[in-house]
Amino acid sequence: MKKDLISRLNEGPIICAEGYLFAMERRGYLSAGAFVPEVVLEHPEVVTQLHREFIRAGSDVVQAFTYYGHREKLRIIGKEHLLESLQKNALQIAKDAANEYKNLDLMVCGDVANTNIYDPNDKQSIIECQKMYEEQVAWAKEAGVDFIVAETINWTDEMKIALKAIKDEGMIAVANFAIPRGDKTREGHAPEDACKMMEDLGADVVGLNCYRGPDMTMKLLNKVRDKVSCHVAGLPVPYRTTEEEPGFLNISDDGCNCIPGDNAFPVALDNLLCNRFEMAKFATDCMEKNINFIGICCGAEAHHVRQMSVAVGKRPISMKYMPDMKKHFHHGTDETLKQVNKEFTP
Ligand SMILES: [Zn+2]
Repeated sequence: MKKDLISRLNEGPIICAEGYLFAMERRGYLSAGAFVPEVVLEHPEVVTQLHREFIRAGSDVVQAFTYYGHREKLRIIGKEHLLESLQKNALQIAKDAANEYKNLDLMVCGDVANTNIYDPNDKQSIIECQKMYEEQVAWAKEAGVDFIVAETINWTDEMKIALKAIKDEGMIAVANFAIPRGDKTREGHAPEDACKMMEDLGADVVGLNCYRGPDMTMKLLNKVRDKVSCHVAGLPVPYRTTEEEPGFLNISDDGCNCIPGDNAFPVALDNLLCNRFEMAKFATDCMEKNINFIGICCGAEAHHVRQMSVAVGKRPISMKYMPDMKKHFHHGTDETLKQVNKEFTP
């Protein structure tokens, strides 16, 4: 019988690749700003291919690309009528991609996220928010996902609504907060306290995703690990955020003076990108601290995922193509290489 997420985490780390939205924007299949995953309807083959790349790189989880495919996001682009087909397509694409790799024992997960309508002072918004989570959880459950992630939520109470929707359907729930500047949820809870609340309310895994780079995530994640007894998740963005600018939503690039508005978010982050080794270090740091749900969010590419997977001791398919500089024309040591090419400095 297939092991569930918790049994898998009990045995050791799992890798979860995310960041589909940014990856699709870079490739030209959706627009930054609204950030709606229309690509799952317009070019499903591209989503399938990204799933494949992440799977080959070692992601143990195939996350359905339903992030930001919710009612509010479709409203803002005037396409609310596409909601159900978009959600169901995304789930089917993920399942089909996982099915291509039957020997890998992959998990497929559903995803719910920040609704962007939640307002603690507006009762109607709370009702709408609950409906949005319930409809998405129902579609994910119907599709037979292995678990559901609620993520990138920065209100503690909005997370409670998402978590309840998942647990009411009897599904395994991962609750990942995105923590803004000030190191607190928007109500003012420390991340470890917000995570403990979710654990007490039945979350199976709690943690942090998005907004922050590996260092700024780890700073907070350590406290989460100390506070809760359930499994912990960490999925930073692969960008070099700092104490001064801990999150990537407002971040400057000192090396460039031609970014419109001077904010590198979201489409001029290139110079701030972490390399694969920085992300691998995050993965091994997690493993040492018994943080077993290890992943990567907006900005991720397959080379990050592969290095993280290898760093925690796995042998992903694309490991076959790990760097082998012995065969490089200039740096290589292979005896058959031309000596003349090693004796100059390009
Ligand atoms: Zn993200």
